[in-house]
Amino acid sequence: MDAEGERMKTREEQVRREARAWYEAHWDPALPAGEWFRMMLEARWAYAGWPEAWWGRGLPTPLVRVVREERRRVGALGPPSGIAPTLLAPMLFEHGTADQCRRFLRGMADGSETACQMLSEPDAGSDLAGVRTRAERDGDEWVITGSKTWTSNAELVDYGMLLARTDWDVPKHAGLTFFLVRRDQPGVEVQPLRQMTGDARFNQVFFDGARVSADDVLGPIGSGWAVTRTFLAHEKNSYNPAAHEGGPFGPVNLQRPAGDVLAAEQRRLPANASGRGVGRVLDQLVRDFGRSEDPLVRQAHAELQIRRRTMGYTNQRVRSSGHAGGLPGAEGAISKLTVSEITRGQRELGLAVQGAAGMLMGDDAPSGQFQYFAMGTPSISIAGGTDEIQRNHLGERILGLPAEPRSEAAPLPLPVNDASPSR
Ligand SMILES: Cc1cc2nc3c(=O)[nH]c(=O)nc-3n(C[C@H](O)[C@H](O)[C@H](O)COP(=O)(O)OP(=O)(O)OC[C@H]3O[C@@H](n4cnc5c(N)ncnc54)[C@H](O)[C@@H]3O)c2cc1C
Repeated sequence: MDAEGERMKTREEQVRREARAWYEAHWDPALPAGEWFRMMLEARWAYAGWPEAWWGRGLPTPLVRVVREERRRVGALGPPSGIAPTLLAPMLFEHGTADQCRRFLRGMADGSETACQMLSEPDAGSDLAGVRTRAERDGDEWVITGSKTWTSNAELVDYGMLLARTDWDVPKHAGLTFFLVRRDQPGVEVQPLRQMTGDARFNQVFFDGARVSADDVLGPIGSGWAVTRTFLAHEKNSYNPAAHEGGPFGPVNLQRPAGDVLAAEQRRLPANASGRGVGRVLDQLVRDFGRSEDPLVRQAHAELQIRRRTMGYTNQRVRSSGHAGGLPGAEGAISKLTVSEITRGQRELGLAVQGAAGMLMGDDAPSGQFQYFAMGTPSISIAGGTDEIQRNHLGERILGLPAEPRSEAAPLPLPVNDASPSR
C-alpha cells in the first residue's frame, strides 16, 4: 500500500473507532426520538458529510459510510432521511445564505421540520423549465399564484421547494427563481391524488396569493434553473438507497421512544423502491411457492444480482469521487435507471412465481405487501425524471450523441386567465 493508501486506512480506522465509541456510549432506545436526533446532530455524527460549519465533519462519502456502518452495528436509529437532508441540504450548501443554512438545516436534521418538492406542474414535468406558476414581488415578500402537481407528501410537510417564474420577458430557463415556501398558510390548498396502490401519497397544490419572504429565495432572482440543476442531479442519486442515512423519511412523533421509531422503520416495506425489504418478501414468496430450484426463477435471480452489482459499481464511482452528497451526473442517471430495472425485475419475478394468485390484492393476496409494491413499481420509472429522460441525458451529455431539438430561446407566453386554478 502506498503512503496515500496508508493515510486513508489510518483515517478510516480513526473515524470508525470514534463513531463506534460515541454510538455505544450514547444510543438509548428509551430516549425520545427528537432528543436522539438532536444529540446525533450536536455530536456531528448525524450527517458527517456536511461541512464543519454546519453540524458536520466534512467527511468524504467513503468515511460517511463508515459512520453509517458503525451506527447500524450498534443498532441505533438513523437521523431523518427525507428529501430535505438528502436534497435540500446540498442545495443550501451550494446556493444558500448563512442565514438560510442556520434556519433550515437544524429543523430538517432534528426532525422538527420536513419538506416536499414543488416542481412539476400539469404542463411541466420532463420539461421543467416550462413552469408557469408565477411569483410577483410585493415589498419584502413574493406572492405566488398557480399550481403544482404530483407533489409527494405535500399534506404533511412544513415547507416546499418551489420553482416559479419571476420573469416572462426572457428565454424560459432565464426567468425562473427558486423559493422555500411555508405550506401551512392562507392561499395554499393541497388536494390529494389517488394512485393505483390505493394510497393518496401525492397531491395537486394550488397557490392563490400565498406569500414567501424575500429571505427565503434560494439563490439570486432569475437563477432558478441553476438551482434546479443542482436539485435534479442530487435527486437522481437519491434513488440510490446508499444515498440515505437510513432514518425515517416523513414526519416523526418526536416524543416517541427512538427504539420504537426504529422498529417501525424496520417493519416498513419500501413500497416504491428496490430496498432490501422487497428482496426479503420476494425470497419468502419463492420459498412459499416451492420455486427455489426452478431454473427460470434462478435465472431471474441471477439477472437481478447482476443489476445490483452494476449498482454497486456505480456506488463505488460515487464514493471514489469523494463527493459527500453523492456524485451528480452520469452516475446519478445510471443509478436511477438501474433502480428502475431492479424494481421491474423484482415485480416480474414476484408475480410470475405466484401464478394466478399474483392477480389478487389486499387480504386475498398471498403477500399483500408484495402486491402493493408491484402496483407502485411503474412510478419508479417516472418519479424524479423518467427513464427516457435519463437515457437522453446519458446519450447527449455522456456519449455525445446529437441533441434533440429544443425551443428554449423563446420566452413563454404570458398567462392570460390562470389566476384561479381550475379544479
Ligand atoms: C410517485 C411519483 C412522485 C412524484 N413526486 C413529485 C414531487 O414530490 N414533486 C414534484 O415536483 N414532482 C413529482 N413527481 C413528478 C415527476 O417528476 C414527473 O412525473 C416526471 O418528471 C415526468 O413528468 P410528467 O409526468 O409531466 O410527464 P411528461 O414530461 O409529460 O412525459 C410523458 C412521457 O413523455 C416522455 N418524454 C417527455 N419528454 C421527452 C423527451 N424529451 N424525450 C423522450 N421522451 C420524453 C416521458 O418519458 C414520458 O414517458 C412525481 C412523480 C411520481 C410518479
